[in-house]
Amino acid sequence: MLYQSILIKYAEIGTKGKNRFLFEDALIKQICHALRQVDGKFDVSKEHGRIYVQALGEYDYEDTIEALKKVFGIAWICPMFQVEEKEFEGLTREVLSYLEQVYPDRHMTFKVDSRRADKNYPRTSEEINRDLGEAILEAFPEMKVDVHHPDMVLRVEVRALVNIYSEMIPGPGGMPVGTNGKAMLLLSGGIDSPVAGYMVAKRGVKLEAVYFHAPPYTSERAKQKVVDLAGIVSRYSGPIDLHVVNFTDIQLYIYEKCPHEELTIIMRRYMMRIAERIGRESGCLALVTGESIGQVASQTVQSLAATNDVCTMPVFRPVIAFDKQEIVDISEKIDTYETSIQPYEDCCTIFVAKHPVTKPNVNIIRRSEENLAEKIDGMVEAAVTGREIIHCG
Ligand code: ATP
Ligand code: MG
Repeated sequence: MLYQSILIKYAEIGTKGKNRFLFEDALIKQICHALRQVDGKFDVSKEHGRIYVQALGEYDYEDTIEALKKVFGIAWICPMFQVEEKEFEGLTREVLSYLEQVYPDRHMTFKVDSRRADKNYPRTSEEINRDLGEAILEAFPEMKVDVHHPDMVLRVEVRALVNIYSEMIPGPGGMPVGTNGKAMLLLSGGIDSPVAGYMVAKRGVKLEAVYFHAPPYTSERAKQKVVDLAGIVSRYSGPIDLHVVNFTDIQLYIYEKCPHEELTIIMRRYMMRIAERIGRESGCLALVTGESIGQVASQTVQSLAATNDVCTMPVFRPVIAFDKQEIVDISEKIDTYETSIQPYEDCCTIFVAKHPVTKPNVNIIRRSEENLAEKIDGMVEAAVTGREIIHCG
């Protein structure tokens, strides 16, 4: 095993002043969660603006890096040698051994970039750079110094221990999940909503999800697809509680009582109401959808306004101004695409009218909903209390 330690650098958290420790602790929690899926045991700790992942014995290096690449809040993943040796000659030996092991072929340009947090260390950083540089050139004549555009920057940090590293693997950025409240994602089997959930989680928001299904019009397989999608999103967001709501009776009732061209809008208004209701019970402060302006009739600006009319929580629509291809690109990157395009029926498409309204008038929609007065409250109640909750991830 080449590396026993990995240095984690975070970006935005560094700007959080007094609250920084909360963000660091949330990041550590998410790292531990991600590493639970990996072969190996790890100790994750923090020390002065740095987070360290220490492998305790054998572990799967590739899987570890892949898991860390999904933890929001991480800017850089730096596999490193961490050594106790501080006395300069001993340290030089450690650095040469690092280069020998990490770079079997050393035909490259380099520079040394050292820091010393330990100000009692008998050499300044400039002196460490110079003296280590010289020792490297002497030991490995095939290496050349280039201070402007080196192939490799060798970083040496003198702290309580000494960190030696040169590889910096980009993390996903963002904020650690759990630092920004919780939101309820309306998760369908499509391409857009998993991407929307991923994007909001990236900013540190914990997710719950709700899926409306309409058996027997939608199949068990369509539901399983949504469970699978929640599982994929949870690799980034941490575990997701998925609330599966049976929407059949409500849909049939709307179909029976309201003008068919308004069906989709009215249905979407009931989805929002129910999502809010469940979300409020579990402490969510916002809703998240995969809506994008103009994508379909129910997503014109007028339709979005009519849907939004029933919401009292803020509704986050992170892909609102994205073109379809831009959303597809993200879904491919996060690995939801292949699942999203599986051809299973969606509860919205089953009752769609031939000519749905594209510019609904809110007042007219509200009036149509009055036709539902007799039974709708009881149906919503039954749908909410009868929901199934599936823990994903
Ligand atoms: P997606 O690709 O996310 O399915 P879409 O392009 O199919 O979106 P719509 O079907 O109009 O668009 O849905 C818009 C948004 O409403 C979805 O992104 C999702 O957030 C929510 N939504 C739609 N259908 C459902 C459902 N059956 N259960 C939960 N949420 C849904
Ligand atoms: Mg859809």
